[in-house]
Amino acid sequence: MGKNVDGLHIRAGNSIDRTYQIHGNIEYMRCIAPCSEDIIPISQEMPIISREEKLPEKYWELLRCPVCGRQTRPHVLLWDESYNEHHYLFQSSLDVALKTDLLIIAGTTGATNLPNQIVSQVMAIGGTVIDINIERNIFSDMAERSRNGFFWKSTSGSAFPQIVEVLRAYQGILQH
Ligand SMILES: [Zn+2]
Repeated sequence: MGKNVDGLHIRAGNSIDRTYQIHGNIEYMRCIAPCSEDIIPISQEMPIISREEKLPEKYWELLRCPVCGRQTRPHVLLWDESYNEHHYLFQSSLDVALKTDLLIIAGTTGATNLPNQIVSQVMAIGGTVIDINIERNIFSDMAERSRNGFFWKSTSGSAFPQIVEVLRAYQGILQH
């Protein structure tokens, strides 16, 4: 899975309470120690630079832990790390999966553990799983094996506007 840590879901206007950023958010940092469990927004003053550029020294101060002054780390789940509830809403995600009637998966290949568990959980309680992807993957296979799931070979940019249109039409039928 290309981990979705860019915070785009939040910038698109989704509420932070209802968006489970299960792999973190690159715009936040945590103490490397850690002296606290705090998730700290990275300062707006931090310049955006390319991978090749060196961060000017004066900005390193902005990356220090405000509590103990140590170095911080990005608030993202790295490949050799494990999910947990406090930082990545591990249990909360599985709890929501237990109450999910419809799960739409878009543009992910399912290479990580928690998304797999979520899909299995939804399928186990008979929920509908729709996988939108430009190519087959673990989730499309799972969806097609389930009783009422399916694979929609498409980009999300094309599929979602169509879903919205159908929902709008349905809403229109309900209102008349
Ligand atoms: Zn600290």
